[in-house]
This record gives sequence, C-alpha cells and structure tokens, in this order.
Amino acid sequence: MRPYERLYLRRRAALVEHLRNRGISDEAVLAAVGKVAREYFVEPALRGRAYKDEALPIGLKQTISQPYTVAFQTMLLEIQPGDRVLEIGTGSGYQSAILSEMGVRVFSVERHRALHVRARDRLSNLGYRVVTRHGDGTVGWTACAPFDGIVVTAGAAQVPDSLIQQLRVPEGNRRGGRLVIPVGAHGDQIMCRYECTAPGTLQKERFHSFRFVPLISN
Ligand code: SAH
Repeated sequence: MRPYERLYLRRRAALVEHLRNRGISDEAVLAAVGKVAREYFVEPALRGRAYKDEALPIGLKQTISQPYTVAFQTMLLEIQPGDRVLEIGTGSGYQSAILSEMGVRVFSVERHRALHVRARDRLSNLGYRVVTRHGDGTVGWTACAPFDGIVVTAGAAQVPDSLIQQLRVPEGNRRGGRLVIPVGAHGDQIMCRYECTAPGTLQKERFHSFRFVPLISN
C-alpha cells in the first residue's frame, strides 16, 4: 500500500468516528462511509480535503454534498439490502457509491450531461454497478418504479408529485417507500421524509435545516 493510501484510510476512519459523534447512529451507513474512497469523487486538486466534513465544488456550479448530509439522508431512507433506490442529482456519484456499498439497487439521474458522464465512468471504473441516466429527475424514473427509497440531493422549492407516485405502496410485510428530500427556498431547506404508509396515504416528518444547490426542472 502506498503511503498516501494509508493516509486516506486513516482519514476515512476518522471521518466515520466524526459522523458517529455528530449523531449518525446507523451502523450500515457508517460502514459504507468507511468503505467508499471519497478522494476519487472530488477534483484531483482537492483530494487533500476529501475527508473533511465539507461540501466541495465538482464543476458546473455543483457540489459533492458534505459527508454528514450524505450520511443523514442515507440514514433517513432506512433501506435494506436488495431495496431499489432512486437518487435525483448524481453529481459526483458519491451518494450512489454509498448506497451501492449498502447492497441496494441504485438508479441515479443527473441533469448536467458532463457530470452524468463523469460520474457514470467513475462509478464503473471503481466497480460500482449503478444505473445512471442523463435527464430531469423531477419526473422520477417511471420505467424502474416503484422504489423503496428516493433521495433528492438538491433543494426543492416543492415536492414533485411524480416522485410521490413512484414510491412503493406497502403490501403484506413489505414496507412502503420513503422519499427523503430537502424542501425550501434557495440555500435554506428543511430535510423532509415522506413515507407511503397505505395506498394514497403519506406520513410526513420534518428534520433540521440544510443548504443545497437548487433542484432545477427542465
Ligand atoms: N448526490 C451528489 C450531490 C450532487 S449536488 C453527490 O453525491 O455528489 C446536486 C446535483 O443535482 C447537481 O449535480 C445538479 O446538477 C443535480 N440536479 C439539479 N436539479 C436536477 C434535476 N431536476 N434532475 C437531475 N439532477 C438535478
């Protein structure tokens, strides 16, 4: 192992402890953060900052989310291996890699073609099997629905109805789908979770505030 690889490993382990201290209590999420090499998801010039708990620019005025935010949203999804999860806003591909490490089937949509191509190639080079698409994620991905989880990684002025429609409806002992979405005005959103608890019935919960780049529909 090269010295810098050992350094990243150490920093990644420290990041996991930091997230645990900040209240991320889901061991499966922490284990996934401990596995994904975040240095490959940031610009080469910024690799030295890959394990700080901060968002970093990825080009086109977009950012890779802060590790705490990724971990918090992933925790709220309450997913299990084998679940189907849709991500809106592939960005760097980091959130997709985290979900992949948790054994879920990941579908991810990105509206910037250049980011989509870069993330798709990066994920495949790193051995992650994620189904990606270039397009407007506010309409969801009908052909692959229903989903056990939908995570929106950009701030939404309102909750797109199509996403609600693509949540799994509970049946037997199979739980209904959860939509985790930051909702609110530019740069100041409240994290919300909507769960389909019965056909046509949603349960809504609100958490604390976050700052995201905007969700833009075409
Ligand atoms: N999940 C990403 C964070 C990306 S930031 C990561 O782990 O790196 C949010 C991303 O959402 C940006 O790349 C932005 O281009 C994208 N985005 C914004 N509106 C979108 C839309 N309507 N459909 C798909 N992607 C969108």
